[in-house]
Formats: sequence, structure tokens, C-alpha cells
Amino acid sequence: MAKPIYMMCAANVAPYLHEAVKDAVQMIIGEVGYENLIKTIDLGAWSDPGYILDGVYQKYKSMDWYILATKHYSERENQIDAGILLNFCQTEPWRIDHPHYDVILVADDMYYQKNSFIIGLSGLGLGIIVSTYRFMDLPQQEQIECIKTVALHELGHVFGAIHSKRIQAVEDKLGRHCTNVCVLRQGLVVPRDWLQMTKDRVRSGRPFCDECIAGMRRYLGQ
Ligand SMILES: [Zn+2]
Ligand SMILES: [Zn+2]
Repeated sequence: MAKPIYMMCAANVAPYLHEAVKDAVQMIIGEVGYENLIKTIDLGAWSDPGYILDGVYQKYKSMDWYILATKHYSERENQIDAGILLNFCQTEPWRIDHPHYDVILVADDMYYQKNSFIIGLSGLGLGIIVSTYRFMDLPQQEQIECIKTVALHELGHVFGAIHSKRIQAVEDKLGRHCTNVCVLRQGLVVPRDWLQMTKDRVRSGRPFCDECIAGMRRYLGQ
């Protein structure tokens, strides 16, 4: 479905990584040929009028609330539960009148279920959460390109790149992933695997393989 993309970015994310994710969003829209159908609305570190009342952050009224509320419900001390944050996207009150995809970029380290950490999380047709945390020790240019790769990977899941009936070049490795030279491969060693995928992406000039592109066009065309 060709809904707009709402981008949100925590205030403590490096501006060049915010730009990197914007670039990735444009890249994937271009790859699937939806330039004129999927609009991107970059909200940045947004807040609505009255987002704090009597010192209390109001529900769903600012990027800060999303992060603070996620921290509040997370069970680990120095990581946020990406599942909780993605669930807030699902329950946004304006989602009903304004269907959209969410793209959220955070600087905090994230976990999900039993994983020690994760770099990104996606919900089919819903949106993505990407954390810059695990890439910050890399040189700036590598941070930029790796974060683009992560955002492309997660958006690929959102757009149904690997549909349930696909049998060609797929494997089940923490979710269904592609085995072609493609950003939808799984990368369990961070940042090493993501540096490799990024190298492949930049060298080939093609983030996605034909099968994944076909999967996304099929999903978006429904
Ligand atoms: Zn994945
Ligand atoms: Zn692929």
C-alpha cells in the first residue's frame, strides 16, 4: 500500500545519520519505482504544542515522549526495548485517520526479546526502528553507509520483500532473510557483516536483488 512515510529522529542522533536514513528512504522508494506514490514527511525531533503539561510529557505528543515512555517500560538498564517503541507506532491515535509508515531513528542501544542487542526492528506494513549505537565507533563515512544499509534492510521487511511463499534464495535466520548479494541478508556479527553488506551494496550500486524488488512491488501493489 502506498502510504506516506513519517520520519522521526531522536534529538541526540548525529545529524549526518539522520540525513543518511533520509537518503535510504529515498533510495528504496526509487528502487521499487514509487517516487511519485510514497511521500516522505520528515518530522525530526518533533513536538506538538502542549507536549509538556505540568512537567509531564503528554502521550504521543513528542519524539521525547516516545523515547522516555519506551525507557520507562524497558526492563534493561542501558538499553531500550525496540518492541515497545514499535508497539507505540502501532497504537498512535492518528494512525487511523492518517495511515502511514513510521521510520524512527534513535541513538540508544536497543534489545528485543532475548537478543543481547539489536540494530533495527521492523513491522510489516508498519515501520522501522533503527539504532545508530553499535556503529558509532566506525569512521564517519562507514557509519553513514552502514546505517543506510540497516534502514534499507528494515524497510525491505516493511515492504514485504521476502513474502511467505518465496522459496528462492531464502533462509530462516532470526526471521526470513535473503541469501543473494542483497541488503536483506541477515547480519549477525555487528558491525562486521554490515560493513560487508555495505561494501557489496556500494560496489554493485544495487541494494536489493531482483527477487526482493519483485517481492516489494508485489506487496506495495496490493
Ligand atoms: Zn532482517
Ligand atoms: Zn534479496
